[in-house]
Amino acid sequence: MVSYLLTVSGVVQGVGFRPFVYRTAVSLGLKGYVKNIGDGGVEIFLEGSEGKINEFVDKLRRESPPLAKISHIHIENVSPGNYEEFVIEKSEKREGEGLSIIPPDVGICDKCAKELFDPTNPRYLYPFIVCTDCGPRFTIIEDLPYDRENTSMREFPMCNFCKNEYEDPLNRRYHAEPVCCARCGPQYTLYTPGREKIPGDPIKNAANLIDEGYIVAVKGIGGIHLACDATEEDVVAKLRRRLGREQQPFALMARNIETVKKYAHVSKEEEEELKSYRKPIVLLTKKENCQLPKNLAPGLHTLGFMLPYAGTHLLLFHYSSSSVYVMTSANRPDMPMVIDNEKAFQELQGIADYFLLHNRRIVNRTDDSVVRFVHGRALVRRSRGFVPLPLEFPSKARYLAMGAELMNSFSMTKKGQIYPSQYMGNASKLEVVEFIKRSVEHFKKILRIDAWDAIIADKHPTYLTSKFAAEMSEALGVPLLKIQHHFAHIGSVMLEHKLQEAIGIALDGVGYGDDGAVWGGEVLILSPGEMRRYGHIDYYSLPGGDLAAYYPIRALVGLLVKSGENVIDFLEKYVPGWRNMLPHGEKEMEIILKQVGNGINTPQSSSAGRFLDAISVLLGVAYRRTYEGEPAMKLESVALRGAVRDVEVPVRQRRIYMGEIIPQIVNMKRDTAALTAHMALADAMATVAIEGAEKKGIKNVCLSGGVAYNSIITSQIEKRVKSYGLKFFVNHEIPRGDNGISAGQAYVAYLLEN
Ligand code: ZN
Ligand code: FE
Repeated sequence: MVSYLLTVSGVVQGVGFRPFVYRTAVSLGLKGYVKNIGDGGVEIFLEGSEGKINEFVDKLRRESPPLAKISHIHIENVSPGNYEEFVIEKSEKREGEGLSIIPPDVGICDKCAKELFDPTNPRYLYPFIVCTDCGPRFTIIEDLPYDRENTSMREFPMCNFCKNEYEDPLNRRYHAEPVCCARCGPQYTLYTPGREKIPGDPIKNAANLIDEGYIVAVKGIGGIHLACDATEEDVVAKLRRRLGREQQPFALMARNIETVKKYAHVSKEEEEELKSYRKPIVLLTKKENCQLPKNLAPGLHTLGFMLPYAGTHLLLFHYSSSSVYVMTSANRPDMPMVIDNEKAFQELQGIADYFLLHNRRIVNRTDDSVVRFVHGRALVRRSRGFVPLPLEFPSKARYLAMGAELMNSFSMTKKGQIYPSQYMGNASKLEVVEFIKRSVEHFKKILRIDAWDAIIADKHPTYLTSKFAAEMSEALGVPLLKIQHHFAHIGSVMLEHKLQEAIGIALDGVGYGDDGAVWGGEVLILSPGEMRRYGHIDYYSLPGGDLAAYYPIRALVGLLVKSGENVIDFLEKYVPGWRNMLPHGEKEMEIILKQVGNGINTPQSSSAGRFLDAISVLLGVAYRRTYEGEPAMKLESVALRGAVRDVEVPVRQRRIYMGEIIPQIVNMKRDTAALTAHMALADAMATVAIEGAEKKGIKNVCLSGGVAYNSIITSQIEKRVKSYGLKFFVNHEIPRGDNGISAGQAYVAYLLEN
């Protein structure tokens, strides 16, 4: 007989790991114990024959529960403990190797969903039903080890019925920390905006109110949603009015996958993602005959759908006659999603007609994740269901990377893993920065990180995240590293694919360049010997700087001036409504022309995003940006219906003169002009990248940045790159847009330091 002590790290707490270990050990006749330890890992003491123990370790690796993810098993020969049986011991605060992590939130599992509607089940119609395979995790956890007392469920002492299940190693709810029932667990209450309680079944009443056309704030897992009937155009219009949200698409929740398929095309991989335990919003192509109101996603060819992922959602649809709800995060523009009951009443006054709230605290605000399939899976927003899962990181350094500004996240590295935070939002808002500061502290705590080797920020001098990084570096005496935005974008792809060198094509809106200009259409070299810009879209003027993002006609003027057009004559001829595209019309245009003339308040830019925005104005597709990426996204929707024509884009000394295509496309049909502009941009960027790859002898070409969500541009670049025998890479795990910047910053820091 021999004795071994195993320390297992990875995602092993909160996923039914101990009962699995218990069952396996007992079935092999092994003695000893299993217990959770304070860093999120699991310790197993085993006594038995060498053969049985080997068999055990084998089963551990191959048969562990679906949500468990073993990253490391440390095995040590120890002196016998003389155990008479195998037991599950009480958790210990002691730290192990510090490589473990709590699991992400998991959508309700099939077994629980079935029990929810089984009249003989004690949790019949109880929305907080969970088991070890499903339910909230990250959103309710305050500290490790992952035990009930360290979650917001500690405020709900278990009744005897739940306690018995919780303590029975053979029960599906054994140590399911959020386990509860109607007698002991959280409860929903339906309120009026004046905080009056509405009697009766709160969820049933809420469903009926939604059917009647009311807007109901619904508190869920990671935050509060605004829910309403998505099949009624008037109701959707009312929600838009109240939120002051004119154009931005709304996320939808459908009763089931069949409902989604009624309105949108769903590929096999999209269906898998929709049904996965992560339950993200998936951006799908609308069907031609889609009967849903146009105002859900004006001017776009896509709809964002998700499936119910909590008991609450299943119950709402159970009581509702509508099969599609709008389920949008409840927040004022650019503010963090509301998670707190009292805040909900304050901030959603005049927006929500009723409030369906529960009394369990949300510890970690976590928005719904957003996924789109463009050359494989692309994460637009990495949040609920993904966070806090790590990715492999090639160095043991401890970095804190603060990201950029829009769609921000931060990332931490430790012991060869990188942990990107959940989606934080627009970090130009102080409320979001406060959220970031709190979340940094929380991540440090649950990851047991007490010191940094470096703190990393974007080069932008006025980003609040850069300021925060500088303050921290100063206060802690830790080196501050500044990484240029587009190198970080490419770094995020290289991290995922474990690349040491690459030619990067970074296409996005704006990022602060090494020379102080506004970059965004870049070909970059990232290799051990060389890290520099290789080529780019030739600079054009962005009169008004940031304003050009909101009024893309400003970017169009910059491009026209560059190609020597008489701006007013051109606009009169081709953009007849131009006077209405600026808040102050003709007067404003005079100022813009003066600005461009003498270079005042007119940064130079190589932005691909602003170029696409300008084409969007030129073709009459969109002339204002009411949400991030709007003009370019609408342009893509138009382009998908077009044909391609040949145009000439001059490239001189690795500079791409994109503006030159304007006179060439202006007389084409709108959709053809749109597609031609897309293809011209993709071809020109690919040409410069391929040239760079051949010159440097680099085989890998990486594409990233917000424009990498564009299917036309991504597939065209891929086609060109591969036709030259080069390898093509995009992100699948880290967002391609600015939500992925922080992870890329950490990787570039690694490349620079190694
Ligand atoms: Zn379950
Ligand atoms: Fe960016």
